Amino acid sequence: MLKNKTAVVTGGTRGIGFAIVKRYLDNGANVAIAGSRQETVDKALAGLTEYEGHVMGIWPNLCDPEEVAESFASVKERFGSLDILANNAGISSRTSLYDYTLEEFTKIVDINLKAVFVCSQAAARIMKEQGGGVIINTSSMVSQYGQPSGCGYPATKFAVDGLTKSLARELAKDKIRVNAVAPGVTKTDMVAALPKEMVDRISAGIPLGRPGDPEDIANAYLYLASDLAAYVTGAVVRVDGAAMT
Ligand code: NAD
Repeated sequence: MLKNKTAVVTGGTRGIGFAIVKRYLDNGANVAIAGSRQETVDKALAGLTEYEGHVMGIWPNLCDPEEVAESFASVKERFGSLDILANNAGISSRTSLYDYTLEEFTKIVDINLKAVFVCSQAAARIMKEQGGGVIINTSSMVSQYGQPSGCGYPATKFAVDGLTKSLARELAKDKIRVNAVAPGVTKTDMVAALPKEMVDRISAGIPLGRPGDPEDIANAYLYLASDLAAYVTGAVVRVDGAAMT
C-alpha cells in the first residue's frame, strides 16, 4: 500500500509508534524512526534488521525547527522523498490541577503540540516542493471527553484536533492531506503506567470489550497514509472500540 513512499514516525521507538513503523515497512515504505535519544532509536532499529536498507533513525529535538528541518532533509537525501509524517510522539500525566507546575504543563504542551507544529511545518515545506504528501497527527479519545486529572493532556490533544482541521484546509491546495487518529485505551507503556484499577474500569466500559492493541491503531495510520484515503482530509478518526470515557 505504501510502495516507494518514505515516512517519518516520531516516537517510533516503542508502543503505537513502533507498530506504525512496522505496518509501514511491511507495506513497502522506507521509514525514519524519530526518537528522543540515539540509544532508544538504536534499540528499536536492532529489532528491525530484516528491513535493513529501508529504515533509519533520527533523533532531533522535535521542538527545534532547525534540528527537525536538518533531520528531515537527511531522510529525503537517504530515501529520495518524504511523503508521510506520523506525528505520534507524546507524553501523558494524571497530575491534579492543584499540584500541576507550570514546568510540567509547558513540557506536555511542548511534546504533544509544539512538536506537532514544528514537524508539520518542516515536512510540509518538503512535501509542497515534491507535489504532495500526508500528515497524520495523534489525538486521543480524551480530546473530546476530557479526563478527571492531568488536564494538560486532553488540552493538548484538543489542540491537535484543531491544528489538524486547520492544516487540512490550508494545505489541501498543496496536495497535502492532514488527518488525526484518536486512539482509545491502548496497551502500551503509557497505559501500563496507569493504576490497574483505572485501566480495568475503563476497559469494562468499552463496548468492544477490550483495550486496543498498538496494531489496531497502526492500521488507521496505514489507511490514512495510503491512497485508499485519497479523499480524506481534516478527519479525526476514532479508533477506540466506541469507548465513551
Ligand atoms: P509510549 O509512551 O509507549 O510511546 C511514546 C513515544 O513517544 C515513545 O517512543 C517516546 O520515546 C516518544 N517520545 C516521548 N517524548 C519524546 C520526545 N521529546 N522526542 C521524541 N520522542 C518522544 O506511548 P504510546 O501509548 O505508544 O503513545 C503514542 C501516542 O499515542 C501518544 O501521542 C499518545 O498521546 C497517544 N495515545 C495513546 C493512548 C494509549 O492508550 N496508549 C491513547 C490515546 C492516545
